[in-house]
Amino acid sequence: MNSIKLNTPMQKMTFHDMDIFIKRDDLINEDFSGNKARKFYYFLINEFPNIKKLVSYGSNQSNAMYSMSVLSRLKGWEFEYYCDHISSLMLENPSGNYKSALDNGAKIINLEGKTRPNLVSTDEILYIPEGGYAQESEYGIKLLADEINEWIRLQDDDTFKIFLPSGTGTTALFLQKHLEYPVYTCACVGDEKYLKQEFFGLESNEQNHPIILQTYKKYHFGKLYKNLYYLWLELKSKTMIEFDLLYDPIGFDTILSNLKIFEDSKIIYIHQGGIKGNLTMLQRYKHKYES
Ligand SMILES: *Cc1c(COP(=O)(O)O)cnc(C)c1O
Repeated sequence: MNSIKLNTPMQKMTFHDMDIFIKRDDLINEDFSGNKARKFYYFLINEFPNIKKLVSYGSNQSNAMYSMSVLSRLKGWEFEYYCDHISSLMLENPSGNYKSALDNGAKIINLEGKTRPNLVSTDEILYIPEGGYAQESEYGIKLLADEINEWIRLQDDDTFKIFLPSGTGTTALFLQKHLEYPVYTCACVGDEKYLKQEFFGLESNEQNHPIILQTYKKYHFGKLYKNLYYLWLELKSKTMIEFDLLYDPIGFDTILSNLKIFEDSKIIYIHQGGIKGNLTMLQRYKHKYES
């Protein structure tokens, strides 16, 4: 693997008459990028001489699963990952993050109704919770906050608001904890109440919590929505940047339906990577809306 380059560029774009600065964390590294690279950076740069195996669980198309497979490969660890379900289509024709994780030597266990064993860290096993929802993620996300604080210091004014869409909320939370500017987010997995609970699970001081904006409508994670697909296509053609298809369309849709909040400020939007996972989503979208 080529080097891991943090301190990613900030790229200015104009979208719907708004100045938006994109923090290009998708460019950290081809194999280890976005917020998962930030989250797992702590494990990457520290030595764990006794650890032989990494264990985790989640969906079979998860960006976190793929990044953990890269981490394990680099560290020489076994990687064991539990999924509740894998479709027969995926089992017969592995693709996207699932295929790439298998290529990295991941042992992916399909539970199909069986209960997941109790996963815990031991002397030889490192357990990382689903999606990197863990205190260790703070280390790399603080580095992201430092980079943004420093970048804003060099600008003419400081009327910036930061926006990023959330899954577990880990990235938005630790970003707000270390940023001197307000962080806005929206819930892409579960609802606003779920996201707030996730914040409390990592940080009891509510002062450090990001502001949760309502999504334009209730979106179910991983489902296909025509308006979101067309927004993603518009973003791609106007900015020449490929965004992720699961979180980013909901993120930009949320900005567009809360324009008043961003009226007098410039937006810094965190590109959290995840492009490898687009392949399977794009196949589904094309099949549904372009055939
Ligand atoms: C994992 C992921 C998220 C969600 O990050 P959380 O820290 O869990 O909120 C958002 N966008 C992309 C592209 C991701 O891969």
